[in-house]
Parts: sequence; C-alpha cells; structure tokens
Amino acid sequence: MRLVDSHCHLQADRFDGDVDEVLAAAREAGVERILVPGWNAWSSAAALDLVDRHPWLNAAVGVHPHDAAKVDDDDWEQIAQSARDPRVVAIGETGLDYDRVFSPILAQLSNLRRNLALAVETGKPAILHCRSPQGEREAQDALLRELRIFGSDPPRIVIHSYSGPLDYAVEMLELGAVISVSGLAFREGEESTADVVRLAPADRLLVETDSPFLPPPGGPRHRNTPEWVRVTASWVADLRGTDPDELGDQLVATYDEVVSRPVGSRP
Ligand SMILES: [Zn+2]
Repeated sequence: MRLVDSHCHLQADRFDGDVDEVLAAAREAGVERILVPGWNAWSSAAALDLVDRHPWLNAAVGVHPHDAAKVDDDDWEQIAQSARDPRVVAIGETGLDYDRVFSPILAQLSNLRRNLALAVETGKPAILHCRSPQGEREAQDALLRELRIFGSDPPRIVIHSYSGPLDYAVEMLELGAVISVSGLAFREGEESTADVVRLAPADRLLVETDSPFLPPPGGPRHRNTPEWVRVTASWVADLRGTDPDELGDQLVATYDEVVSRPVGSRP
C-alpha cells in the first residue's frame, strides 16, 4: 500500500541521531510523501534543512498555538520570509488549542490570523491544529468563525490530527478543507472521527502520524515514527470499505494536490 504522512515533526529532538534510519524504515513501509511542519522559528528553519538533506520531504513553516505568545517580531519576520521559499509547500502548523492553553487564547487568535493571512498571501494551504477539552468544542467553533471571515474566498486548509464532532467536519468540508487523521482517532473521546472518515469525500482525506506524538495502537509509546501511518491508513481503508491499494493511490494523489508538488520533484 502506498502511504503518505501529512504531518510529521522529524526535526524534533527525539529524531536527533537517527533520522536517516527513521526515513529508511518509512520508505520500506511504503511512505512516499512526508510533510514536516514547523511550530516556531527554529523548527520552521529546521524543516527546511531537512528538505535540503532529503529532497523527497516537504516543509511547512508557521507558529503553533502553543507557541503563539512566545514568538517575537524577528521570529515572525523569519517565518514570513521563508513562507515564500519554493521548498515551503504550506503554512503551519497553526490553529487553536483550548485544551492545554499553553498560550493565552487572545494570543492564539492573533497568531492564527496572521498565519492564515500568510497562507492567503502565498497561496499555500494552512495546516490547522484544533483541540478543545474532551467533550467540548469551543476551539472548533472559534476556528470556523475565523475561517468564515474570509467569506466566499477562504484560504486552502488542512485540518491536522482531526478532533471534533461530525457537524464540524461537515462545515469544514464545505469550506474546502482536507481532513487529516492521526493516531488521536483511536483515543477515548475521539469516536466521532470514525464517522468523519466514512463521510469525507475520498479526495479530501489524508493520514498522518504527528510523530513523535500520538502513536496508533501497536506503535511505540515513547516515540511515534512515520512508518506507523500504515495502521491509521489500514483503519481508514477498513472503515470506508476501500481496497487498501486504491486508498493508497488516492492518498498520494490528494497529498500532491494539497501541496501542489511541482512535477519532477518526486523521489
Ligand atoms: Zn503537529
């Protein structure tokens, strides 16, 4: 089965020292595309360094809601500059996190707005993180409000590591979103993601690991790696009653559509 990992933080320090082996294992498992998103200035620059060393990877640059109150003007300037770099295929990850609230909500909202503006300006999709405390949906509703401000011309968006009720997914799909599913879908309280997987059009679904976080069942608890995206992809194929090989071809096609990968850059 062909695989993609639409969200994988390979620049995280847990991959210092063995990123080449991790990538070889991913290739062995069938992973053909990996998007490496930044979360602040350092990790955005580090994503670009990784793409230089492994040209089959793609980079995204942006500021995570956890870091919203921690980036200074110079950090943001660096990110906004590199957003125009042709190696950068998306803006992110950004979004809202009302569960852990590592940055105040007002700072998260202004951070989200400037990341979305950068996505619009560059024409690159925004990678969006969105989490509320379990059983709640304030962050999801706030994210929908922020996107509706753009009216009939919203930025292109990928909802990363999907979490939320079914009607939120329906509204996001109406806004043109692509929905990416991670190992979070297997956790208690995230049962609605299975319904979202069944409902989403085939060309609006991606899979990811969010490595080194969120291992799926059977994955290593201490550090998730991109090869484990196969567990989530098989689960998606099962839920949709799709042949895994067919799903794999679709995942690659959807990934390429999202990042508008230039012809000739494939491994
Ligand atoms: Zn992430």
